[in-house]
Amino acid sequence: MSGPVLLLTHHACLAHENFPDHPECPDRLRAVLSALEAEEFAPLLRDVAPEATEAQLLRVHPPAHVAAILAVRPGPGRFVPVDGDTGMNHASAGAALRAAGAAVAAVDAVCGPGAVLRAFCATRPPGHHAEPERAMGFCFFGNAVVAARHAQAAHGLARVAILDFDVHHGNGTQAMVWDDPSILFASSHQSPCYPGTGAEAETGAGNVFNATLPPGADGAAFRAAWAEHLLPAVERFAPELIVVSAGFDAHARDPLAQLRVREADFAWLTDEICHLAGRHARGRVVSLLEGGYDLSALASCAAVHLRALMA
Ligand SMILES: [Zn+2]
Repeated sequence: MSGPVLLLTHHACLAHENFPDHPECPDRLRAVLSALEAEEFAPLLRDVAPEATEAQLLRVHPPAHVAAILAVRPGPGRFVPVDGDTGMNHASAGAALRAAGAAVAAVDAVCGPGAVLRAFCATRPPGHHAEPERAMGFCFFGNAVVAARHAQAAHGLARVAILDFDVHHGNGTQAMVWDDPSILFASSHQSPCYPGTGAEAETGAGNVFNATLPPGADGAAFRAAWAEHLLPAVERFAPELIVVSAGFDAHARDPLAQLRVREADFAWLTDEICHLAGRHARGRVVSLLEGGYDLSALASCAAVHLRALMA
């Protein structure tokens, strides 16, 4: 047993909408939270996500971006586009603050004196496409990097690894840590696919590791990318904390991409991540929900992910 696992969420994350009929919709989070109501998840510690502070966001974004996002507060029923496929309603700024704040609170929980070593943030909007100076791809703030920088600034950690298995490349995360060798970024993603970045030749300061998978690649290819390329790099880095960008849109049924990853593959990778964290990071894992757009696949994948975090 890893000790208690913390689940953080907030009702504001259920009220945020980009636009009507958008794939990154409140029902995604409802599906995840509903799956986690099963009896086997009763041992989860549950808490309400706080809002990130401006100081925490300013570790990864310039003041103008934070101010611009927080200034968008349309009236009920109104939508404001901030990117071609990203929009905001009355609840979006608050939800973005809760998603980033959950990541910070999760870091505080696993790095603090208590017994919690693993935490999952069931939040939206996701974060890994948000670039330092702009919202993009359903994302407003770089939640994973906010978490990593908070672990360094508030808890004195030297090395943090961000592992991203969302089917899309985490271009925003990569941009934020590009020249920062104290944060490793490892990503598996479909290529070609949105957003078009993430070539294996993109290596930053030697701290960026990208593994591309062609459309149609299955769980065996997904596991091989991690086992042979990405996890050995993380092992060499010896992180003191692992932050996971947990997107489940590599699933075979996902409508936004064409990989054929299954629940058992996500369970396998979560196990591997936990074992690696046990060897280097005192077991500390903070996992953040990113994508996943088939509601039933998202729910079952989140369940196997949490089951593995609780093992
Ligand atoms: Zn995605």
